[in-house]
Amino acid sequence: MSQKKEEILRELYPEDMFEYGKGLTEGEVEVLQHTRQIIEKEIRPVINEHWEAATFPFDEFYKLADAGIMNHPKLFEGREDARKPSQLYNFFLYYELARFDASIATFYTVHGGLGYNTILIGGDERQIKEFAPKVANFEWQTCFALTEPDHGSDIAGGLATTAKRDGDHWIINGEKRWIGGADTADIVPVFARDVEDGKIKCFIIRKGAEGYDAKPIPQKVSLRAVQNGHITMKDVVVPEADRLQNINGFSDVAKILVNTRADVAHIATGVTGGAFVAALDYVKERDQFSKKLGQFQIIQEKLARMQANTVAAIGYSARLAEMLEEGNFDMTNSSLSKMHNSLVMRETVALAREVVGGNGITLATDVARFFADAESIYTYEGTHEVNALIVGREITGSSAFV
Ligand SMILES: Cc1cc2nc3c(=O)[nH]c(=O)nc-3n(C[C@H](O)[C@H](O)[C@H](O)COP(=O)(O)OP(=O)(O)OC[C@H]3O[C@@H](n4cnc5c(N)ncnc54)[C@H](O)[C@@H]3O)c2cc1C
Repeated sequence: MSQKKEEILRELYPEDMFEYGKGLTEGEVEVLQHTRQIIEKEIRPVINEHWEAATFPFDEFYKLADAGIMNHPKLFEGREDARKPSQLYNFFLYYELARFDASIATFYTVHGGLGYNTILIGGDERQIKEFAPKVANFEWQTCFALTEPDHGSDIAGGLATTAKRDGDHWIINGEKRWIGGADTADIVPVFARDVEDGKIKCFIIRKGAEGYDAKPIPQKVSLRAVQNGHITMKDVVVPEADRLQNINGFSDVAKILVNTRADVAHIATGVTGGAFVAALDYVKERDQFSKKLGQFQIIQEKLARMQANTVAAIGYSARLAEMLEEGNFDMTNSSLSKMHNSLVMRETVALAREVVGGNGITLATDVARFFADAESIYTYEGTHEVNALIVGREITGSSAFV
């Protein structure tokens, strides 16, 4: 590495004032730097047109595979036996993607977070060997089909999609809603309730399966570049060999969600940082009353709040990553971080939109995208209320869900 790690980090993330990035290895920083180059060269020029047209920039996104964001050997230096890169790198990768665009980060989390973790946590050795490498190098697109039209927050108890065993096969019937990437995925992990024992199990439905249909949900005003599918399944046949063997109840699904809720906490951090930096760049250039907007006291107060929110959210994410790395997989920690980071994200995107004025409601600045997209992140992977109830249960000892 010709440039020093600290120098690159200052260039990439000047808003990381408390320097949490210092914990990254040189190899991890190199991969992040390469990721930034691909984003700027390939994805930035097309993101707004895709956002407006409600299409996903597949060709440009898959250039990220060239950076090896999930599997570059430099991410495994000193951790050769690990299945995933370090948690701190994972946080900064989400930060990097979401700081640029929330749809890109969301598409990635559905594939490389939710889908990939489902395979790693739910699959047996044979299944991990079959699916994981193809997902890690983006040969196969995957997703995560849990939510249903009639069951969102109460999915743990309410899940209504059914699985009925028939010899060596299962017959799946039901509907799923909001499933990111469901219309294009090669393999779709679908959660269904076994009609025999009432337990939730996970079935890999492969592209082209008869009886499976996924239609993008139209007219979204948030995360327009990601297509969320409404899935219907009518007598879809899945072999027992494609049932993920280590998911045998909702407590196994929760193991996946501990990881993925942390990932979404990181996305909220990235959107916070991205909106702040976009607003800061704007007010340094825009003149009103014959001076730069950034020279006015009231504007600086808002910038300072956005900076503080960014440092706070990075702090939550970095410490959470450290705890996950130590093996402390605790849902309350993930929920607390997702809840906190989403709250400061919502405040920050509103402040950013405010200081950018009229241009903050057009795609001319990145701020409008962050503003609209923040609403999805506030809602998915446990709404604010659901995560607050998880934290509330822990600190009071009383569950207040029902
Ligand atoms: C853009 C987007 C992408 C998504 N991607 C996926 C995906 O890839 N895969 C997937 O499986 N799911 C996905 N989801 C689904 C997401 O996880 C759900 O939207 C979320 O769990 C909330 O469910 P709901 O929308 O049905 O809201 P509801 O559960 O109907 O909740 C509505 C409101 O009521 C509140 N509420 C509910 N219960 C309580 C309670 N007990 N006390 C107080 N308040 C309560 C909620 O907090 C919320 O404010 C996605 C959603 C969105 C918007």
